[in-house]
Amino acid sequence: MKVVKFGGSSLADANQIRKVCDIVLSDSKRRIVVVSAPGKRFDGDVKVTDMLIELANKKLNNEDYTEALENVVDRYRQIAKGLGLGEDAANFVKHDLTDRLNSKIDSNAKFMDFMKAAGEDNTAKLVAGYLNSIGEKAVYMNPKDAGMLLSNEYGNARVLKQTYENLAKLRDMDELVIFPGFFGYSVDGEVVTFSRGGSDVTGSVIAAAVNATVYENFTDVDYVFCANPKVIKEPKPISYFTYEEMRELSYAGFNVLHEETLEPVYRKKIAVNIRNTNNPQSPGTLIVPAERADRVSGENPVVGIAADKGFITVHVEKYMMNREIGFGRRLLTLFEKEGVSYEHAPSGIDSISVIVKEKNCPKDKLERITEAIRKELEVDDVVVEHGLAIIMLVGRGMSKTVGIASRATTAIARASVNIRMINQGSSEVSIMFGVHEDDVEKSLIALYDEFFR
Ligand code: ASP
Repeated sequence: MKVVKFGGSSLADANQIRKVCDIVLSDSKRRIVVVSAPGKRFDGDVKVTDMLIELANKKLNNEDYTEALENVVDRYRQIAKGLGLGEDAANFVKHDLTDRLNSKIDSNAKFMDFMKAAGEDNTAKLVAGYLNSIGEKAVYMNPKDAGMLLSNEYGNARVLKQTYENLAKLRDMDELVIFPGFFGYSVDGEVVTFSRGGSDVTGSVIAAAVNATVYENFTDVDYVFCANPKVIKEPKPISYFTYEEMRELSYAGFNVLHEETLEPVYRKKIAVNIRNTNNPQSPGTLIVPAERADRVSGENPVVGIAADKGFITVHVEKYMMNREIGFGRRLLTLFEKEGVSYEHAPSGIDSISVIVKEKNCPKDKLERITEAIRKELEVDDVVVEHGLAIIMLVGRGMSKTVGIASRATTAIARASVNIRMINQGSSEVSIMFGVHEDDVEKSLIALYDEFFR
């Protein structure tokens, strides 16, 4: 049994939805289909989820939302028309949205999630309706009836354990199941969404719950590429890699899957196949458990290079730091108290740097943290540096290969870039380099040339 998920660009208009249905019907093992809301049809177009957010904001600010509502309904009207479903389908969406807008929800965050969820919910109903209209046995599945239980963290929900048991019964359904992605219900019965892009997570949770043989994630690229195509011209495709490698790459800016997608399938060792709705012949990229990924010798030990900007370094110095028991814990507690998670913490004997993401650590928090470090830890110096970029060289084979770090540093040096930090994770799946943001493209090109050209 396969669980298949289609992203927004795969459902952007009627033509795309026909392709989706052809793909689903071409393989009888594809039994559960998770859909996103319609995405962009062309560069500069607006995703339905963004239109719904705008609509919800207008309502919350007591502004006139007639046009915003009509814009969303019109997207669905065009889709329904293109699928030959008639005006009723569009009216149904209009009713649904009007009901949501008039609901008496007492908190803005709850209301926002309720509105956002309308995108995938109506899409799932339309897709099921279309399949029925062409004589296929398909049903829309409401996440509440299915038991998709989430924590009540609005806009950023997590899956509750019970969900896996609840969803296991989807395995026994006779009909093709069309399941809306991105949202579920809290224990109190309220609609809650994952963070943006969360339909990937829905698909993964269902795949794990029903013990699928594979989780197929259809998007609009033939493969995952080994480096960002916006920086590297025609980078090499990756035909397969492991969950751990994918995790490291997506951490550093590979935006192929939502960050939390892999956890459910990872535990069940279910392979993920990233594929292209616009070119279903292409086998795509397979993400597999480590034991299934023993690369043949001679293969490139590096599978991909990723980079991300927007990091801050808080560099702390104190003479004899290494003898002071609990120093590291007390330092990190100061970040914890401000609700700031740290990303890395490379250290020397008398110094330690705590690296955080700029977006998680606004100016006021940063000031309070550095002030507390000075006062409470009696350090010799605290220096904050902005504009750090992180480059990840990823590949399981690296740990068994001599000379990777040396080749990488030499390549970066050839590009006249100063490396500000090096960190090799204990898992040895990746080597991290910290460079100034202005140097990141140069470094990427140098590393790509070294390992892939
Ligand atoms: N439609 C939602 C978003 O745009 C969720 C998703 O597509 O996965 O974020």
